[in-house]
Amino acid sequence: MTPDDLKALVRTVPDFPAAGIQFRDITTLISHGEGFAACVRHLAGFAREGGAEAIAGMEARGFIFGAAVAVELGIGFVPVRKPGKLPVEVIGIDYALEYGADRLEMDPGAVTPGQRVVLVDDLIATGGTACAAASLLRRAGAVVDRAAFVVDLPDLGGATRLGRLDVAVDVVME
Ligand code: IMP
Repeated sequence: MTPDDLKALVRTVPDFPAAGIQFRDITTLISHGEGFAACVRHLAGFAREGGAEAIAGMEARGFIFGAAVAVELGIGFVPVRKPGKLPVEVIGIDYALEYGADRLEMDPGAVTPGQRVVLVDDLIATGGTACAAASLLRRAGAVVDRAAFVVDLPDLGGATRLGRLDVAVDVVME
């Protein structure tokens, strides 16, 4: 499948979750077996090249792609979660959103010191979520220098903000 084929599988929903926002919805992509598999293979290839020893995915859509990439590579998956979801003592990071703030948490025992972890999420917009997840994983001892996304919104500058990280994307949506 070409990047244009994959792009055609991403649905754009106007005015969600608020008026004026064009939501890029990957539900239509993951319901297409060939498209979903092509995305996962591409993201997995990038993670493999970077010597990934584990994949971390951000709740919730990062779980869909991240877990599939981890299975493809035969390595473990680390969930980076919304607050209050994990049943153990967690480490967390608060970060700013365009409007408001959010928080991510993880089990610090989910990675080992020096383990190479590649981040996977469905979409990068401003890069705030991925930056926060990378910081959190590093605090737990992981080495994070690669991040892979299905969709990039380059107008929001996320990949630039992740300057220190090598970034791969399947679909660019201007
Ligand atoms: P960022 O932190 O601004 O890069 O936003 C990326 C995060 O918000 C990811 O976890 C995405 O799942 C979510 N997100 C932001 N905009 C969209 C969108 O248009 N479609 C799907 N997810 C989005």
